[in-house]
Amino acid sequence: MNTAKNVPELFGSMVFNETVMKERLPKDVYRKLKKTMREGTAIDADVAAVVATAMKDWAVSKGATHYTHWFQPMTGVTAEKHDSFISPTDDGSVMMEFSGKELIKGEPDASSFPSGGLRATFEARGYTAWDPTSYAFVKDGSLYIPTAFCSYTGEILDKKTPLLRSMEAISTQACRVLKLFGKNVRRVATTVGPEQEYFLIDKKDYAQRKDLIFTGRTLFGAKPPKGQEMEDHYFGSIRPRVAAFMQELDEELWKLGIFAKTKHNEVAPAQHEMAPVFTTTNIATDHNQLTMEVMKRVAQKHGFICLLHEKPFDGVNGSGKHNNWSISTDDGENLLEPGKTPSENAQFLLFLTAVIKAVDEYQDLLRISVASAGNDHRLGANEAPPAIVSMFIGDELQAILDAIESGEDYTDMAKTKMDLGVSVLPDIPKDTTDRNRTSPFAFTGNKFEFRMLGSAINIACPNIMINTAVAEELRLFADELEKADDFKSALVALIKREIKAHKRIIFNGNGYDDAWVAEAEARGLHNLKSTADALPHYTDEANVELFTRHGVYSRVEMESREEALLEEYYKTLHIEALTMSDMVREEILPACVAYQSDLAKTVKNKKEAGVAGGMEADLLGRVSALTEELYTKGRALDTAVEQAPAADAETVANYYHDTILPAMDAVRAPADQLEMLVGKKYWPFPTYSDILFYV
Ligand code: ADP
Ligand code: MG
Repeated sequence: MNTAKNVPELFGSMVFNETVMKERLPKDVYRKLKKTMREGTAIDADVAAVVATAMKDWAVSKGATHYTHWFQPMTGVTAEKHDSFISPTDDGSVMMEFSGKELIKGEPDASSFPSGGLRATFEARGYTAWDPTSYAFVKDGSLYIPTAFCSYTGEILDKKTPLLRSMEAISTQACRVLKLFGKNVRRVATTVGPEQEYFLIDKKDYAQRKDLIFTGRTLFGAKPPKGQEMEDHYFGSIRPRVAAFMQELDEELWKLGIFAKTKHNEVAPAQHEMAPVFTTTNIATDHNQLTMEVMKRVAQKHGFICLLHEKPFDGVNGSGKHNNWSISTDDGENLLEPGKTPSENAQFLLFLTAVIKAVDEYQDLLRISVASAGNDHRLGANEAPPAIVSMFIGDELQAILDAIESGEDYTDMAKTKMDLGVSVLPDIPKDTTDRNRTSPFAFTGNKFEFRMLGSAINIACPNIMINTAVAEELRLFADELEKADDFKSALVALIKREIKAHKRIIFNGNGYDDAWVAEAEARGLHNLKSTADALPHYTDEANVELFTRHGVYSRVEMESREEALLEEYYKTLHIEALTMSDMVREEILPACVAYQSDLAKTVKNKKEAGVAGGMEADLLGRVSALTEELYTKGRALDTAVEQAPAADAETVANYYHDTILPAMDAVRAPADQLEMLVGKKYWPFPTYSDILFYV
């Protein structure tokens, strides 16, 4: 197939999108549906019925026999339960049917999804509700309907609902602010372009490693002689087998209407990246979830396994996700674009100030939004930003903010005078090459890039936090400025005051530097090192107040989420500990014993033959000592796991962090040394050298 020619035809071909709707829906139904999509209102039963039939007919024409309500539970990836369209008729044959009711509402059994305690106190059943703002699509013979997921008593059990609510919140408040600038905007939406990193390894290698199979990462592995120090992988030429995978991935994503655009190799060997063109946050979230699924599926077809874990291999970079975020109006004005006129500049500075204040005041929420057992291996490990949240705004903007704060005129290099609201901001370069890559939250010309996300994360969580925190600051600003007698002077005073109050969050230096940790502490910034440290702040009073005020979460929903996330954290570590112990007992120890036995035989044979030289004896001694240590440390890990307290989620999470993790490190150390001493034919699974350099 000549793909180059077919891309426009391919793009969105499996999506029930605008074009298909126009083609297949009666005009009035189409109009009503569009209104629902635009205004986020409830859909009429008769409209739903017509849409459902049209959707089903279209899906059947694309080869679908089933439909599923597709949703994003609190933890894990996405969930789906497939029902067929088949319905029996009187004459004993079948018909393909799909009703409006089935489209709008589904009833998966909520009891098998994490609910963080909600299940104990509330009705176990839940239902899914169609989100008409995200298009339905056909994948693997099923019609997928993007939905929200709630319990019967109304508590939300998913990530889409709070995301949509947070988008509503920021829209409401941003419209109020825009009104002050004389703009009548009906809706504002946040936009996101998530850059996705991943590893590709050979299926054969994967199949031989229980750690990869059960935990997604290697729990053992000595550093190979060559790592990433030559920096020869990044942007290097793509190997043919990987290129074939990338091409098919692009095509599969295009069919689903996903704007896959950039692809390249990453820093670590076997690591790659895919970036889509940005879109509305809700759609970007659905698309990123789909992208991760499609990556895994297409990889298998090419004999690969796609690893999305944040740290599959120790000693080489892990994988992250960059959340490029901005706000734009429904007629396409990017509110983080500095603009060209004095009024545009003032409006930009107000929105910028809102983001700065939001990041400073809700640092803990941003940290929590990226917290997971996997991501703990990256943050602060010289490959990703530290666990400290700070912002980078660049020299030009910094000079402007300094001038505003000190009340002086800002003069740029070209000596243009800037007096806020009177003359024009200097051009702020959208530099894409030479900017600060160590900053967790960086301004990149017309958007912010939040870089702390792990590769496996659902981007809904960080965006819920950012949207709601910025909505709150915009609310406070609008409250104040709506009351002002003189808008312009009130605006200048507000920006000046808030910059002064929140400039501690701005750090333009090297975030990987140890000195920054001390400096951040002196500035009073949070340094929540691990998931166990971060998560309990979720339900701090200020955070509960924020989310309840904007109707994003209720207190109960937040408590349940905190619990579900803490549980996910310690369960992950629990599985890792058991896998480790299993590999030691079943695979590593027997290999070491076999090797020692052969060495011992050689030592004995040599002695009997009267040959001098003690090399084998020396090696045997070293292997034996390390094997003893491995055995002892393995037993200690088992005991530590057995002694885990039966307590509340926070206590258990802390126990796993403080006791199990160090016990796991203690097991790994002798095992990795043994890997280097024990002969290759004895070692029970492929090593880093085997895995990383051949795909
Ligand atoms: P880099 O790797 O240098 O960070 P990329 O071009 O790989 O840059 O990624 C930049 C991402 O930012 C892309 O996904 C792009 O679509 C996205 N982006 C650009 N403008 C906006 C915007 N206004 N809002 C959200 N995302 C944006
Ligand atoms: Mg980037």
